[in-house]
Amino acid sequence: MGTRGREIVAMDVEELLKLLNQAYASEWLAYYQYWLGAKLIKGPMKDAVAAELNLHATEELAHATLLATRIVQLGGTPVLAPEGWAKVSPCPYDAPADPYVAVLLDQNIAGEQCAISTYKALMDTTKDKDMVTYNMALTILQDEVEHEEDLQGLREDLDLMTARGSR
Ligand code: FE
Ligand code: FE
Ligand code: MG
Repeated sequence: MGTRGREIVAMDVEELLKLLNQAYASEWLAYYQYWLGAKLIKGPMKDAVAAELNLHATEELAHATLLATRIVQLGGTPVLAPEGWAKVSPCPYDAPADPYVAVLLDQNIAGEQCAISTYKALMDTTKDKDMVTYNMALTILQDEVEHEEDLQGLREDLDLMTARGSR
């Protein structure tokens, strides 16, 4: 823990650590949901979609790294066991039980929308109080906004393709 770094945070650090751990847990769930979905995916455009899911998985893992680093800086402990992830995550884990490409895309779009809301809320909470966390949340939010748009673009392509194919 950095003592001066913790002192300059103008809000309840324990409350902030709770929010950071919630986001941290969500990132691991998002990572696994993408990673496993990319392995199981079936249907039209599956190779293109799997490539995007795999890329997003690595980016979610990078977000978990940023969050763990910030939690440790503030003297906290990242969620210690995987059982804790689903318990504290504000965004539910959506198991890729149906591997059809459209279903996986819809699940992951919902996940990104939840992530966007999570980081928007973290930015609102830390604005003018913790610039370091605020800046990190902005960095992650930029990725999540990009993720949502990537997946919605693929979903649109899939719709166009299957609509043409059935005419
Ligand atoms: Fe993320
Ligand atoms: Fe994402
Ligand atoms: Mg992408």
